[in-house]
Amino acid sequence: MNSLFERISAQYGKTCADEIAAIERRCVTVRVNSLKAEAEEVRLALLSAGIGARPVGWYSSALILDCIDEREVQRLPVYSEGKIYLQSLSSMLPPLCLDPQAGESILDMTAAPGGKTTELYALSGGKALITACERDKIRFERLKFNLERQGASRVTPLCVDALLLDDYFSFDKILLDAPCTGSGTATLGDPIEFSENYLKKCVKKQENLLKKALKLLKKGGTLVYSTCSVLPEENGELLARVLPESGGRIVPLDPFEGIPTLPTAPGTITVRPDSLYEGFFVAKIQK
Ligand code: SAM
Repeated sequence: MNSLFERISAQYGKTCADEIAAIERRCVTVRVNSLKAEAEEVRLALLSAGIGARPVGWYSSALILDCIDEREVQRLPVYSEGKIYLQSLSSMLPPLCLDPQAGESILDMTAAPGGKTTELYALSGGKALITACERDKIRFERLKFNLERQGASRVTPLCVDALLLDDYFSFDKILLDAPCTGSGTATLGDPIEFSENYLKKCVKKQENLLKKALKLLKKGGTLVYSTCSVLPEENGELLARVLPESGGRIVPLDPFEGIPTLPTAPGTITVRPDSLYEGFFVAKIQK
């Protein structure tokens, strides 16, 4: 057993850790880009390519595909036309929790490759004023490509370290989908590298980004903090340490029916990894 699974075992129990360690692979899931297509139109297009798709109770834009390889989806016109985006179910949650509305100024602080930016844009009907920030040049190119393909024409992409944004800026809403260990994403077929040192580095980055997000958020504004990790150090423990001194408080999230969860900080959601869902953490914060 490696140190990640020892940690998961200590946190959630050995049976849970064993079940998570035994996940072989995850089903391919897509989000329908509601600005370009209806879910039913996409389902029929997939079916005519021989790919079955089933709906997801908590999100009409999500589809679970029959167990296939992602590359089969990437060959389809609905993919190249930007009518769908390959996205894990768990990673569709943060934009839903932020609930973007027309006219709101929204910062997606760590945006590439853009799955959540384009989801925020679609959820607002293309009418939110979104700034999407990414510091890595190669990932920024991918972000721009995805914005273009998904028709997110009114998003402003910025290739910059979000920590260097001028505090003069302020936003109604912020999404901080923080860089993390990825501890929730590991499968047997796709393991991750994990070390205590890497965890420490991630927590430091997350802390700096969270403090910056709370500076850039308008008073009364909403921040969604998320990671694809199930480790409390990157999630609830970080919020408990930073929020009291930064003027933020957790606003309890309503549970999503049908999503498997793990014990978590009050008001937050930690998605339990399984063959459908990646492990994920989401919290909604108000300043
Ligand atoms: N939200 C993205 C999506 O849904 O497609 C995934 C974001 S990924 C978890 C985190 C991203 O944050 C990485 O692309 C990383 O390069 C970027 N990043 C890390 N530190 C950053 C910083 N200080 N400023 C801007 N981007 C940063």
